[in-house]
Amino acid sequence: MPISDALPAIPPCAKLKLDGDALVANWKTLNDLSGKAQAGAAVKADGYGLGAVEVTRRLLEAGCRDFFVATWKEARQIASLTNGNAAVSVLNGIRNEDMAFAMQSDAKPVLNSLEQVVRWSSSGRPCDLMINSGMNRLGINVDDLPAINAAPLIIDLVMSHLASADEDVPQNTDQLEDYKAGLEIVSGKRTSLANSAGIALGADYHFDCTRPGLSLYGGVQRAELAGHIKQVATPQAQILQTRRLHSGDQLGYNAGYTAKRSHDIAIIAMGYADGYLRGFSNTGRFFADNVALPVLGRVSMDLVAIDISAAPQLGEGHWVNCDYNLPNASAMSGLSQYELITGLGQRFSHEWG
Ligand SMILES: *Cc1c(COP(=O)(O)O)cnc(C)c1O
Repeated sequence: MPISDALPAIPPCAKLKLDGDALVANWKTLNDLSGKAQAGAAVKADGYGLGAVEVTRRLLEAGCRDFFVATWKEARQIASLTNGNAAVSVLNGIRNEDMAFAMQSDAKPVLNSLEQVVRWSSSGRPCDLMINSGMNRLGINVDDLPAINAAPLIIDLVMSHLASADEDVPQNTDQLEDYKAGLEIVSGKRTSLANSAGIALGADYHFDCTRPGLSLYGGVQRAELAGHIKQVATPQAQILQTRRLHSGDQLGYNAGYTAKRSHDIAIIAMGYADGYLRGFSNTGRFFADNVALPVLGRVSMDLVAIDISAAPQLGEGHWVNCDYNLPNASAMSGLSQYELITGLGQRFSHEWG
């Protein structure tokens, strides 16, 4: 049978509520906290899972002029918004396989190795450069930087990346010193070191451009940012069924919860396939208005059980909000704030407000 335009809609049973004002407010806060530096935005991994196009559109309008993606495919995803309006940096750099696309893209590769410098040096096009200041992930070692000075590069951002900016450890000042040593050897138009947590380390770390990601989306990894950063993403799920458990009744896979008294529960349409991982089993919570509804037993692939003793009015078809305040949810689940935000699944209908 041909698919008809007239097929009835299928209303979602799980939604991701996205607060566009909170996203923009977070960028403005991070831009202010960056002092003289301009804040860019890391929108890699599809805008940390929230939708790179929707995020980029809002941040462009707010005044953001530097966007950071991981891959060329991600650069292409936002190109119709950014072309002619903002700079895009591809953090994973430039492979041979990327050259054909990169040569006709407005985005810049972040050159991470001497091989990439050679690959790009005849392009006649701009790039950024990553210095390895001690994280030992991507980037060119300070000792190797003199070798690139002969290459005819048009360098915009000379950057490095902090490994432990969320902690007060000597590695931060060590990296700062190494980065500055690198800047004595290579120069570009602009300098850039700090991610979200790095912004909170203070003016010494700001340079010309900062690169917040996590905190745009509601992540708080340093006390200095608490109270300044707003939650952006809230999963909501619909109640599919309610039932009464009696003392001794067991619930869910491997009987992860046993009732000690009679009480009502609700089964809701969200599970680990949506990114609500098993770390929330018996520890996560949902809200109906401001009433907390604890997760009971194991999170299933498509379902979670919650205790609705405190909200007896709830029934089939009602909606509940997930407690997805990232610092709280991380503490409850043992998952990192990064994993929590980027892991939200494809089944949610995204609803920007
Ligand atoms: C992901 C990333 C960022 C953003 O980091 P957050 O910790 O999410 O703020 C900045 N710079 C680089 C090089 C990155 O890979």
